Amino acid sequence: MMRHDVAIVGGGCVGLSVAKHLAESTDLDVAVLEKEHHLASHQSGRNSGVLHPGFNYPPESKKARFATEGTARMKEYCDEHDIPCEEWGVLVVAKNDAEERRLDDLAEQAEANGVAYELLDSQAAIREHEPYAEGQAALYAPEAASVDAEQYVYALAKEVRELGVTLYTGYEVRQLRQSPAGYRLETSNGQFDVSLLVNAAGLHADTLAHQVGVGEEYQVVPFRGEYYEVRPERAELCETMIYPTPDPELPFLGVHYTRRADGKVIVGPNAVLAFGREAYANTDLNPAELFETLSYEGFRKLLSSRKMLGVAWDELNKSYRKSKFVEASQRLVPDVAPRTSTRATRGSAPNSSARTASS
Ligand SMILES: Cc1cc2nc3c(=O)[nH]c(=O)nc-3n(C[C@H](O)[C@H](O)[C@H](O)COP(=O)(O)OP(=O)(O)OC[C@H]3O[C@@H](n4cnc5c(N)ncnc54)[C@H](O)[C@@H]3O)c2cc1C
Repeated sequence: MMRHDVAIVGGGCVGLSVAKHLAESTDLDVAVLEKEHHLASHQSGRNSGVLHPGFNYPPESKKARFATEGTARMKEYCDEHDIPCEEWGVLVVAKNDAEERRLDDLAEQAEANGVAYELLDSQAAIREHEPYAEGQAALYAPEAASVDAEQYVYALAKEVRELGVTLYTGYEVRQLRQSPAGYRLETSNGQFDVSLLVNAAGLHADTLAHQVGVGEEYQVVPFRGEYYEVRPERAELCETMIYPTPDPELPFLGVHYTRRADGKVIVGPNAVLAFGREAYANTDLNPAELFETLSYEGFRKLLSSRKMLGVAWDELNKSYRKSKFVEASQRLVPDVAPRTSTRATRGSAPNSSARTASS
């Protein structure tokens, strides 16, 4: 039986940064339990790695504060810990009048949130920033940056160990129970008794929470996000990051271009229902988890909307037909063609995987 004051379940960026802050600001004996032997195996190592500067969020919201302050602090952290981080900037492109009006809203939010921006009102102005992007207007935010998300997790893990946190890798928490002293954890490698518990289990956070009666009305619905990589010889098609103007009803959707910290250009993600929480390939299937999703009322509610059904069909098409994915990518950069890109596998989130594409 192992004993600690605090157990943090999940060694992704959330669990490890909680461990860092607890170790720095308290005398508590902290342990992180991670089921994988390799860190960054899930969301924290399978994302676009973008530091969003904060123009997307309503002023005074927590999201706005976390994005603005978080982006600045992440840049400092990367600098101090030699983590690759490049401040490329982002171009949010409007293709029609309705999108152009939404750019004004984004500009207002940027102003209120203290985010640097510039409004570009012509194709010629866009081309000065991104020679291959196409649109009638754009918002350019120079503070957006690309970070090496895996290196970030590894740096956090190194730091928390140095701060005295015990990091157990290969320890899957299978059962949580409340106990007189706090919580008892049954893991793949024995029992733990702890006073305090932090659930940072990502795609499995709901399962663990339900075991102690928390959030029983919520369930993770996993979505896979697939990416293509623009062939290196055509990487000039995107010098920075190129995003579509977000649809306020579905702000998380929209294939975009990200120049990563290593200079590679990835296009994506789409968003398709994953047939399992860690089903990263479109051939992966976990029947029990798929059944769980299909029988979840929240998921059925999502699909009851005609708009969502249309969106789901489009996103599915992008997963199985490269031509459809390329078509969506050409909306922002028309010179991208099927032979300019290849598949690049990435992640699954409570909404995500990567592939390669070019011209
Ligand atoms: C495709 C995609 C693109 C994204 N792009 C961006 C972006 O550009 N910018 C941005 O800011 N965010 C982005 N995100 C979001 C970001 O990646 C996540 O918010 C973040 O990584 C969540 O971290 P986490 O630690 O909560 O989860 P995870 O990284 O998933 O960590 C959870 C950990 O818990 C472990 N675990 C689970 N169950 C157990 C158990 N029972 N016992 C022990 N361990 C367990 C898992 O193995 C895992 O390592 C993106 C996400 C996706 C999917």
